[in-house]
Amino acid sequence: MTRIAFIGLGNMGGGMAANQAKAGHDVAAFDLSPAALERAAEAGCRTVASVAEAVKDAEVVITMLPAGPHVLGVYSEQIIGVAPASALLLDCSTIDVETARKVAGLAKEAGYAFADAPVSGGTAAADAGTLAFMVGCDEADFARVEPALDPMSRITIRAGDHGAGQAAKICNNMLLGISMIGTCEAIALAEKLGLEPERFFEIASKSSGQCWSVSNYYPWPGPVPTAPSNREYEGGFASAMMLKDLKLAQDAAAKAGATTPLGAQAEALYALFNGLGYGGKDFSAMVQMLRGRIDTLA
Ligand code: NAD
Repeated sequence: MTRIAFIGLGNMGGGMAANQAKAGHDVAAFDLSPAALERAAEAGCRTVASVAEAVKDAEVVITMLPAGPHVLGVYSEQIIGVAPASALLLDCSTIDVETARKVAGLAKEAGYAFADAPVSGGTAAADAGTLAFMVGCDEADFARVEPALDPMSRITIRAGDHGAGQAAKICNNMLLGISMIGTCEAIALAEKLGLEPERFFEIASKSSGQCWSVSNYYPWPGPVPTAPSNREYEGGFASAMMLKDLKLAQDAAAKAGATTPLGAQAEALYALFNGLGYGGKDFSAMVQMLRGRIDTLA
């Protein structure tokens, strides 16, 4: 049994903390939201009243927070110097590479082992304990990082040193945003050409157009029963979160001097979709905008 502090029990963190508790660990859980705390208690976590209380005797600290400023604030003000220096610090949020490296530097200076360990897989994988983790950490620390993530993970890959996990995540999600828009455009065109989207799935999922957005997350209801398209695009991966990741990719591309024209287009389309008020819908709901039927979204 490991003493784990889990900070951030939202759509993703809630399921992840539950899986740590299910694996028999003592999970001290904290979130600013009382509803999230209640769900964590029902899932077998020990809820506490502050970050400080959660981390004070933790062996592993896991954070799953919205964005870079939350991560920097929580680590610099509430974790570093409060958790025992022997604790392993794991940030699983998706944030910019620069902030990840800054937090890693602060942690290292204070004597902690730290890893950026963002995830791929969405809420279903968070609940099932089948996330893919991409890790940026010192090589020697990876032997501690992998088993700590194991109850939440299908696969854990070390991408490189601090920040490399976030770099992998940003590139992966830029590709995902582009492939989802491509899938949505293809469905909209198929429909205009008189080809049923369900029949197009049968063909595309077995042809060279096959990709994760088609096979695992088809934006049209029916062919993939677990996809958010069957639940009026509720839950899943919010378009606002996809926009956040696409912005991170564009910022990173500008700083690194990389050319990413399709990433820029994807950002513009998700910015438009968010601006129209659909940021809370799963990112596959983009299909309704591209087929000119945004009125079908509640
Ligand atoms: P969420 O908004 O549902 O959860 C974030 C939680 O953090 C909230 O419950 C919030 O109350 C809490 N929080 C914020 N500030 C806090 C603080 N100072 N102290 C304690 N708790 C605090 O978001 P989510 O969907 O769980 O995503 C979390 C992270 O995971 C994001 O960085 C996101 O980009 C990434 N991510 C999300 C998905 C997905 O499918 N939702 C997939 C992969 C990665």
